[in-house]
Amino acid sequence: MPFIDKVDDFVRKGIKIPETQIPSFDRSIDDTVKRAVEFASKVQNLDSPAAPDHLAVTDLSLYDQCPRLYYLLKVLNLPDVDFEKLNYASSDKGISAAETGEITHQILDRIDYNAPAKREVEYLIAPYKLGDNDSGKISGLLTNFLNSSFGEEIKNSSVVMREIPFTLFISDIPIHGRVDLLYRTANGAMRLIDFKTNNVKADEVEAKREEYRLQMELYGLALSRLDGMDICEGFAFFMKPCRAVKYDFTPIVLRKCSEKTDIIVESIKKGDFRPRNIELCKKCEYYNLYCHHFPGSEH
Ligand code: SF4
Repeated sequence: MPFIDKVDDFVRKGIKIPETQIPSFDRSIDDTVKRAVEFASKVQNLDSPAAPDHLAVTDLSLYDQCPRLYYLLKVLNLPDVDFEKLNYASSDKGISAAETGEITHQILDRIDYNAPAKREVEYLIAPYKLGDNDSGKISGLLTNFLNSSFGEEIKNSSVVMREIPFTLFISDIPIHGRVDLLYRTANGAMRLIDFKTNNVKADEVEAKREEYRLQMELYGLALSRLDGMDICEGFAFFMKPCRAVKYDFTPIVLRKCSEKTDIIVESIKKGDFRPRNIELCKKCEYYNLYCHHFPGSEH
């Protein structure tokens, strides 16, 4: 059965299109996907999708960014787009942004901070058998962090924990997340680091700081609920351009984060996916791909 016919059925029922049914997204926008969005935009009586039985921290962050984007990617399960790769020359066969992130995180999960950085990075990248461009890109990201003040501090830390999974319950829905790195600083407090591997320009860092605020504060909230965890700050480390931004986890910040998350989860349960701020559409890359199909989206 063609994808478009299956999509009709899934959208009418208000349920996710299973991963196995989703076509991959290539450089030219797949006509079938366009038709699927056109179809979805015309469904007037889309029932509220069944409340999800679990959510990821990144799902909440996505909803916070734009409820409609959450709807497209998480309810309809339409393919996300690697904009970095989409903007490359068509001949580029390099790995995607998602693959770059995955490999970089896998290496950071195993890296020995006390070993010579260059040798350690070369040794851990080699098994992936990447091309020169990709290998150089990932090596650069890793080296940026290892040579930063954080890398130096971790070498001397008495406690270093990586890939720490957690579950928070918000409005009876389990929220799953994973903290990249946690270590004890010289003054005894625990510090959280989240690695960002996407290609961020220096002048975009402040905007990204706000985009990731909910995610970071949810990490702080989850860890603050663990017994004996003295955590008061976290950093998102943008491996390119090698900049860190700080988030304070004060009790007031965490209470507001918890309240905001309650509202988001309730909105998802109710099926409220209206865009919050159509001003954002003017510079949103998803507009030309998906959202211009929605009625009243002209700008
Ligand atoms: S174009 Fe607008 S509605 Fe669509 S995902 Fe972007 S911000 Fe949301």
